[in-house]
Amino acid sequence: MAKKRRLENIHALLFVVINTLIYGLGFTLSEFVGSPVGGLNDIAILCFQWSAITVATFGLIYLLSLNRYIFAITFPLLTTLCTVLTYFRYTANVTLTPMLIDLALINDARTNMQVISPQLVAIIILTLILSVAIVCYRWRRISFPNVWLHALLAIGIVYTTNYKIQALSRPLSERMPHSLFYNLRRYMDERAVATAARDTFTVTSIANSDSLTVVFIVGESLRSDHLQINGYHRSTTPNLACEKNVVSLPNIHTVPCFTHVSVPHIFTRADSLTPQRAFNEQSFVTIFKQAGFRTSWLANQESVETYVYFMNECDTLIYANSGKSMYVFDEWLDEALLPDYSNELKNDNSKQLIILHTIGSHWWYNSHYTKEFEHYTPTIASRVISSNSKESMINSYDNTILYTDFFIKNVIDSLRDRKAILFYLSDHGECLGEDGYFTHGIDRPQLHNPAAFVWYSDSYAAEYADNINTLKSNSLKRYHSDYLFHSIIDAADISSPYMQAEYSIFK
Ligand SMILES: [Zn+2]
Repeated sequence: MAKKRRLENIHALLFVVINTLIYGLGFTLSEFVGSPVGGLNDIAILCFQWSAITVATFGLIYLLSLNRYIFAITFPLLTTLCTVLTYFRYTANVTLTPMLIDLALINDARTNMQVISPQLVAIIILTLILSVAIVCYRWRRISFPNVWLHALLAIGIVYTTNYKIQALSRPLSERMPHSLFYNLRRYMDERAVATAARDTFTVTSIANSDSLTVVFIVGESLRSDHLQINGYHRSTTPNLACEKNVVSLPNIHTVPCFTHVSVPHIFTRADSLTPQRAFNEQSFVTIFKQAGFRTSWLANQESVETYVYFMNECDTLIYANSGKSMYVFDEWLDEALLPDYSNELKNDNSKQLIILHTIGSHWWYNSHYTKEFEHYTPTIASRVISSNSKESMINSYDNTILYTDFFIKNVIDSLRDRKAILFYLSDHGECLGEDGYFTHGIDRPQLHNPAAFVWYSDSYAAEYADNINTLKSNSLKRYHSDYLFHSIIDAADISSPYMQAEYSIFK
């Protein structure tokens, strides 16, 4: 009797192991293929990561297998969804993000049908047949003696891998099959934030100009001291250097130094005394809307719960590269924003606010510029930061700036013939090997001085000569990133009780 139970246990665990391997090799592996690696050491690190995620998958499949009814429903569903994601990962190099879920739900059925090819349908049918066969096998042949003991063990594995090991939770949440659950949860959390009522600006603001285009480029990880226009020894901004109507602001200080905190800080009235305003108030977008501006947000970055409200505050929200995340390593370029940007400029409203949220100089630098901008070499070769030399990190980083300079030139070119003003402000800086630190995971001094500048067209300068003169005389002053909220309202010639003149770079 005891021997029979032991055999049943072994049989059941073997069943779970085989299914885990199907998931690990069939699905999870697709998210590691194409990762840049520098050598055997990096491959070993990736193998370790894959194994850790596969252990977590084992816990999940183990838990689902314990009850045959639960297994019969969840296994075919989970397997089919993972198959669809794997198909798009291999064919289009996209991964699941809350934005992709949003698009799938907003799009009409016909648009969604357009991405479904005959091959995909065939693969889905095959997956369903296979998973139903596995379900039948589980139904008839597998039993778990001492099921509560198994349940305890399975929950222990799921809990430990998902919640107890900090280093694993982020990579786990971005990889199949777990990414399905985590992205759906992120999507629902973001919807809740985006649709919550915020009623900050009860007194209406008024525009004094009847035609004006205001563009705000939200930069990413661009530090002030690596711009040629701020005296950097390399020619990283050749186009900006030729612009006569650019005023750089090299001494901007940002207190928050991570994207998810600094972006909401920049968009709201939040300051060091009232930082909570970043998370419970509306942004300057609402003030522009009240003043009759058409507002649009063009995103080349993932939506995040802390600023998804502002994205949805705009009249239009458009995603470029909606299927990219920090775990995809192929091209992820800001020029993907340009076609939608041109379209927005064609809008009939003579007053426009366009926000371009760029990927700029974010880590895995090589994804964010094309071959043509690979000016400084050697560049990074491995996604494992410690496997790259400091020199190659700086080279790749500087190449992203060259590309950003090209991108900004394109944005400016469309504005020259208009009455227009453009703000650029990066959300924070970047560490490039100072004291051994890289990127922006830990608060370091190099993160607090982001790149910032203002560009204006000739007709803007003609009408607002006083503004420009004051801007030039203020340009070297030290401002907190709080200046943006007040200065952009001021520059748009909007009379608002919420604009505090002492923060404006035009006063
Ligand atoms: Zn950032």
